[in-house]
Amino acid sequence: MGLHDQYGLTPVVNARGTFTPLGVSRSTDQVAAATAEALSGFFVMEELKDLACRTIVEVLGGEAGTVVHCASAANTLAVAATMTGTSQARIAALPDAAGMPTTVLLPAGHAVDYGHPIVQDIRLAGATPLLAGSDAGCSVDELEEHLVRPDVACLLLVSSRLTRGQDVPLTEAVAAAHRRQVPVIIDGAGQDLRIDELLGTGADLVVVSAQKYLASPTAGLVIGRAGLVRAVRAQEKGIGRAMKPSKEAIFGVVAALRARREMDRPAWRREQDAKVARFTVRAGRLPGISAASVQDPAGLPFSRVRLGIDPARAGLTAAGLALALRNGSPQIWVMDHDQDQGDLTLELVPLTDAELDLILSRLAESLPGR
Ligand SMILES: *Cc1c(COP(=O)(O)O)cnc(C)c1O
Repeated sequence: MGLHDQYGLTPVVNARGTFTPLGVSRSTDQVAAATAEALSGFFVMEELKDLACRTIVEVLGGEAGTVVHCASAANTLAVAATMTGTSQARIAALPDAAGMPTTVLLPAGHAVDYGHPIVQDIRLAGATPLLAGSDAGCSVDELEEHLVRPDVACLLLVSSRLTRGQDVPLTEAVAAAHRRQVPVIIDGAGQDLRIDELLGTGADLVVVSAQKYLASPTAGLVIGRAGLVRAVRAQEKGIGRAMKPSKEAIFGVVAALRARREMDRPAWRREQDAKVARFTVRAGRLPGISAASVQDPAGLPFSRVRLGIDPARAGLTAAGLALALRNGSPQIWVMDHDQDQGDLTLELVPLTDAELDLILSRLAESLPGR
């Protein structure tokens, strides 16, 4: 008997992407087994962190890497590292940041809300966010104007489809900060598949979520310069205590990273494209629905299904159809951006063929025209 039956929980089909309120991702049996095995053992935690560091460097790159509770925690602890270095006195004092650099600069359009505002990750370290430019965009010159302030601890950039306005050229922004000796953190929480590009910008630290496309237990990875990663690890004696990784999460991360190393990326990509293409053909036959494959706007290496809903022929608006899918059993969740423009977007990456069949039949049943 599955957990849903055992505890009377709502069954869900997640076409919404790596969405935290739905449990984010599906781990493989291999990752689940490594995680389960860790639970019944004792370990020298420092050795586990060294193992994680070696595995991160080998599979994802960077000089060093570490694991913390989640990407949100990783943002806070990466900011803290730029404020304290490895000074025990400073680490023990946070979030009281008296005498430390406290300004964290970010482009206004990068002040994203991924379920809570990212600026709160900054404030949790005792720092103060300073937004440059506007929601429409932020030029490198506008960033540079603020980089002269002596109290700037770091520049925080976000690589996500959630950013607003004109794209900020990440490599140029990093170079501008480095001209002023300001370290740069990139929050690429959902972008572990693009880690080479993110590290290639020259950023000092890159943050990714291990439970998104890497599909391990919940954890945040901080990857980059060895000295700063050491300073992130050192936060454990301070605010990082409340953000520590569990032993089982570290083993899950290591297993997921090893699987990533073995992954045949071109084959994976072909598989994703074929899945989206098959779904698109079938969905496009439904009355009032046009279906297309769309690439991820932030450069992730897979496509999603975009359903255009013609309310006159479908008998429902995009929002109405999303609601009908959500209100059935199992609940079917789709991405909710662009609904007001008449579109529904579905991410298929973790879904089985049986789940795709179910979505298609529920789409058909939901259209009153039938
Ligand atoms: C998901 C996400 C986070 C938070 O990740 P958690 O691991 O859930 O804390 C942070 N930043 C961005 C841009 C995200 O998309």
